[in-house]
Amino acid sequence: MKNPVVGAWKLPLALAGGLLVGALGGWLAGGHVAIAVALVAVAEIVLLLTHLRHIVKPIMSLPSTSPDGTSDPRHDRFMMRSRRLAANLHDLRRAAGSLPDAIVLLDQEQHVRWFNHAAESLLGLRRPQDRGVVLKERLHNSELAGWLEEPSPEPLNDVSAPGAPSRHINVTLLPFGARQRLLLARDISHMSRLEQIRRDFVANVSHELRTPLTVIHGYLELLDPEDVPHLAPVLNEMRAQSKRMGQIVEDLLTLSRLETQDHVSEERVQMAPLLATLRKEAEALSQGRHSISVENVANIDLLGSPKDLHSALSNLVSNAVRYTPTGGRITIRWERSAEGANYSVTDTGYGIPADHLSRLTERFYRVSSSRSRDSGGTGLGLSIVKHVLGLHQARLDIRSTPGQGSTFTCCFGRERLMAPETHESRSSDSNLG
Ligand code: ADP
Repeated sequence: MKNPVVGAWKLPLALAGGLLVGALGGWLAGGHVAIAVALVAVAEIVLLLTHLRHIVKPIMSLPSTSPDGTSDPRHDRFMMRSRRLAANLHDLRRAAGSLPDAIVLLDQEQHVRWFNHAAESLLGLRRPQDRGVVLKERLHNSELAGWLEEPSPEPLNDVSAPGAPSRHINVTLLPFGARQRLLLARDISHMSRLEQIRRDFVANVSHELRTPLTVIHGYLELLDPEDVPHLAPVLNEMRAQSKRMGQIVEDLLTLSRLETQDHVSEERVQMAPLLATLRKEAEALSQGRHSISVENVANIDLLGSPKDLHSALSNLVSNAVRYTPTGGRITIRWERSAEGANYSVTDTGYGIPADHLSRLTERFYRVSSSRSRDSGGTGLGLSIVKHVLGLHQARLDIRSTPGQGSTFTCCFGRERLMAPETHESRSSDSNLG
């Protein structure tokens, strides 16, 4: 007769095997989603194994002979299979335990139910005393603890690991099972070291190029094309290119500075005069080729860095002018929104195909290189805009229809708004946050 306990193993074992294959597949396939899926699968295996252990243990302790003292071949086969199963379970458990990323299974009150070895080194959890503790209390005073307080936290990028402060981790919380959660902490120390090297390299090269470029540009400006008419076209081209190189270097230095900053100065940015300046800049760049209008319906100021905000907002205006053919319309609008206030620049220009939109803020990403170069672009403008907005907890929204035009919107939160100055309020600034 079929042993019902043996039958009961088959389903969970098959499930465990399937999940492990899925986990390994996901792991090998690479990519965050695949890894997250793989880790959830591994976590399920761990729970399954914990469950199966309770079945295997009593079986292993059964006597090996039948009651009359003789050896039963069916019983021997059964015992052999049990031992093989126990060894497999042990291996699977060890495999899950030795993954390089920290995994912590949490119940709905955030009690720690299980964690692997990497969670000991990266998060500082200890066995057995940390089983059952509330994770955010155990990690108190760390950035992670504050993050765990949030009801549905977004992934936390590049934070110091509580168990090894010199290491950097990315942390994600995934829903799992019946209102349980799985915390995954990925060691990205190597990646952030490489990123740091890249940042330093770009900043150093840009800095070193700045002086020779200034000298070359200065000499080119001294030469008068009228003195050497046969070289005039060459000279003009050299001037234009050295100016462009100078602008690229300046933009790279700005980006390097923004990347290393984690906050901005908190000053009043008066929007009415800033909008007037932006209009003048647009008109100077357009040289009468476009109709330009400004609508200030928000009547509110911003809190942040005047220099960086000016640079970001004017970048959008200059793009609108450069990517809108003669005769087009450009509208700069400052208005209230449900979350705070929006600054938008709408043009009736070339527009951008949908498949480019998500990549526009990458460095040197251009929809059309020749159009960008001809219009004097460096390919770094929107990257600067994104960084400036990030430092002001704002985001960039891009809508565009090829052949019809685009709208670039900077969405600011309420905490960044300030009531405009009146005679009475001039001595005491008020934040609307
Ligand atoms: P660039 O200096 O090349 O303008 P940006 O980072 O400012 O660099 O913009 C990246 C690319 O996005 C541009 O090369 C251009 O293809 C596209 N782009 C930006 N703004 C607009 C716009 N208003 N209309 C159409 N395309 C735009």
